[in-house]
Amino acid sequence: MAEPFILAENLSYTYKDEDGAVTAALHGVSFSVQSGEYVAVLGHNGSGKSTLAKLLNVILTPSSGSLTVAGHRIHSEMSEDEVFEVRREVGMVFQNPDNLGIPREELRIRVDDALKTVGMYEYRKNQPHRLSGGQKQRVAIAGVIAMMPKCIVFDESTAMLDPSGRADVMKTIRRLNTEFGMTVLHITHYMAEAVMADRILVINDGEIYRDGTPKEVFSDVEALRRVGLDVPQGRELMHGLSFDGIAFDDTPIDVDGCAKMILEKYKG
Ligand code: ADP
Ligand code: MG
Repeated sequence: MAEPFILAENLSYTYKDEDGAVTAALHGVSFSVQSGEYVAVLGHNGSGKSTLAKLLNVILTPSSGSLTVAGHRIHSEMSEDEVFEVRREVGMVFQNPDNLGIPREELRIRVDDALKTVGMYEYRKNQPHRLSGGQKQRVAIAGVIAMMPKCIVFDESTAMLDPSGRADVMKTIRRLNTEFGMTVLHITHYMAEAVMADRILVINDGEIYRDGTPKEVFSDVEALRRVGLDVPQGRELMHGLSFDGIAFDDTPIDVDGCAKMILEKYKG
């Protein structure tokens, strides 16, 4: 197999306050992401997801263990050039797009193209404060696409959006992955969003708790509940029915799959 785009081996990060307080945000984390993969990252609040995002973009550097991103080993003594290179390869979209900078002239064409990609070109002359949350987030994504990164990390980028804004952003994320082959890391609270990924990483208290396909990860409903996570609604329904003695041969995770199973069982 090709060298992974992201490789974390026994990766740890500990925050140290000025008054000596320490928080071990990540400990002994190992996983890899191949180029072109679409990976969702789940975990309850404070489990270390944003810390991981910041390590990938060299906002933080590992306390111990190793992390390689796009062929660069991430460490505290990287040159400015090397940090810049990693940041060019790995774009970040955070929760709140309000502090978006004005694109510089030389980025104009690329930004226009990127705005077309996210369906926001016709809004290019609008004042940012007149855009809806979903529109602002799409412009923020356009800003990142304009840099043509190989990988985009979304850190709860849909958290502040209404359902239609979320659906918009999800469509954009999917296109970036399928049409442009971008590697996607999507940190989210929404199980329905995680279902769309090729693979799900569940982080719990700074450790990898599960690493598998959505189907594998969501098959163990109780294990997810133990770490404060839900499962997609369809999966929840099938799980609930199993307690009433209604068993199914499969564990579909999307609504359509569940509807089909139930119909199969009861038709005729
Ligand atoms: P998540 O994004 O999953 O909610 P974070 O990575 O933000 O989790 O936080 C992981 C842990 O690190 C939490 O216990 C959090 O309180 C702590 N933490 C995050 N940022 C800092 C910081 N700047 N200083 C000290 N502790 C922090
Ligand atoms: Mg976070």
